[in-house]
Amino acid sequence: MLIAGNWKMNGLSASAGELTALKEGLAQTLPACEVLICPPATLIAQAAWHVKGAFALGGQDCHTKDKGAFTGDISAEMLKDAGASYVIVGHSERRQYRGESDALVAAKAQAAWRAGLKAIICIGESLAERDAGTATHICSSQLDGSVPEGATAANTVIAYEPVWAIGTGRTPTSPDIAAMHAHIRACLTARLGEGAKGMLILYGGSVNPGNSAEILSLPEVGGALVGGASLKATDFLKIIVSVKRP
Ligand code: PEP
Repeated sequence: MLIAGNWKMNGLSASAGELTALKEGLAQTLPACEVLICPPATLIAQAAWHVKGAFALGGQDCHTKDKGAFTGDISAEMLKDAGASYVIVGHSERRQYRGESDALVAAKAQAAWRAGLKAIICIGESLAERDAGTATHICSSQLDGSVPEGATAANTVIAYEPVWAIGTGRTPTSPDIAAMHAHIRACLTARLGEGAKGMLILYGGSVNPGNSAEILSLPEVGGALVGGASLKATDFLKIIVSVKRP
């Protein structure tokens, strides 16, 4: 199980206090899961110094190339060098606001592997697609296009994040989450065979301390990708302690 926090474009150097609070909280709770924070890239090196391995750090995006004339971009190698061990690719906000295609997301996942990072590949349907009854089709097609050949549990995590649930306070019903996770598992197994075994499938979208225990207990839910509720260590810790020990 992996509980991952995505800070998005939030956090200044003063946010180190939240990282320290999370580190101290984890030392007291001995979590039953791996814990990851993906702060803005500007904070990764500083965070690595504060956190000292108490939990993992990740980037929120990376370029496909390792270096070069790509002003403003950040490579997976740079994230690794700063102290990251994961990178999120294909978050719906990047698909939506930056027009990222499945093919680009797949290339970013391969860049992550090249640098020695684990890729968290995000997929998820829009509200219109859910209402039209095409959610499973959309997710299969995003998996096909965004997850490169060679994906294994060791280099890849999938995050199912219905776009309409992100930052809205709305979540699918538990049976709907379970059904989509079963569908994703079946797609991964059909496509990758043994490689898909044990690959974590996170749920993301308005996870909070009030709903995390139920969501995290659903079959095939291998953890959560948490946005808003990861910004405060107290809330994030409540989500982490809601993970049941096997
Ligand atoms: C996210 O941004 O990946 C996310 C799940 O956000 P939130 O938890 O705020 O819905």
